[in-house]
Amino acid sequence: MKVSEIYKNGGKTLSFEIFPPKKDTELNNIDDTLDVLCELNPDFISVTFGAGGSCNCNKTIELARRIKDKYKVEPVVHLTCLHYNQHEIDEFAHALIDAGIENILALRGDAREDIVSKDDFSYASDMVSYLKAKYDFCVLGACYPEKHPESANMIDEVKHLKTKVSAGAEVLLSQLFFDNNNFYEFKEKCEIADIDVPIIPGIMPVVKAAQIKRMVSLCHAAFPERFRKIVDRYENNPEALFDAGMSYALSQIIDLLVNDTHGIHLYTMNNPVIARRICEGIKNIV
Ligand code: FAD
Repeated sequence: MKVSEIYKNGGKTLSFEIFPPKKDTELNNIDDTLDVLCELNPDFISVTFGAGGSCNCNKTIELARRIKDKYKVEPVVHLTCLHYNQHEIDEFAHALIDAGIENILALRGDAREDIVSKDDFSYASDMVSYLKAKYDFCVLGACYPEKHPESANMIDEVKHLKTKVSAGAEVLLSQLFFDNNNFYEFKEKCEIADIDVPIIPGIMPVVKAAQIKRMVSLCHAAFPERFRKIVDRYENNPEALFDAGMSYALSQIIDLLVNDTHGIHLYTMNNPVIARRICEGIKNIV
């Protein structure tokens, strides 16, 4: 099923992001995580993509196929384009069609020193138009409520996002953020720019001090005072930080839900304990 259908009649989604395990031998262990995640009835599970591999050795597709066939949950496959040419993207597209996968999160990816960037696709929107012209996938795109680190300002950010939506992106999944007000301001700017597709907020419950610092520096996420105080207070008490981090994420999610967002996309870090605790916290709300 195409995930864009869910939103057409006002539906809201609960979805998870997972990543394929690094080693082939660990692919079976992912079932322990999927057993829990799928029991929570997500509307879809998105699977991240590591650029560089060929279509044949790509674990993302294998994992997405497993989610669909074994767990009967809709997968969304992340696909980056900066390191691939049209022919290679066609190979991925055909492998997805063969696996019965209908949803792609079309991403540019990041330049890397160890992999040559190719010329066919400079931005995600280039791949969105390519896929929409040639295939029948539901194509999703990424968005950045606190702006992508490479964007000069929010005006450029929204302008380029509008190009991506005009190219055919039907749903937007957001980068993680810790300050809901930034998400609401971003949504308002998108509305002004006539970006009228569902924008799903991405929430990462952060429960370890090192993880919080890494996320803030990697994603350039704003670190609100209320959250900073929690980290300062409990960074040397892992159990307390876990509880406080979960409560913070839950309060973000509840605030988003009562403010009429189209759903919640949870960055699970493949940790079923976190996903279960969040779902238990909102089971009577969503
Ligand atoms: P784009 O939409 O192409 O934007 C990149 C930058 O270029 C932005 O600053 C944008 O404003 C600018 N831009 C866009 N169009 C134009 C234009 N026409 N002219 C000038 N500038 C323009 N990475 C992975 O490698 N694997 C993953 O699985 C993965 N999953 C992700 C999931 C989500 C929900 C998110 C938010 C990110 C994910 N990423 C992943 C990271 C992503 O690949 C990087 O953030 C990357 O730097 C940008 O990708 P994009 O698709 O947002 O790029």
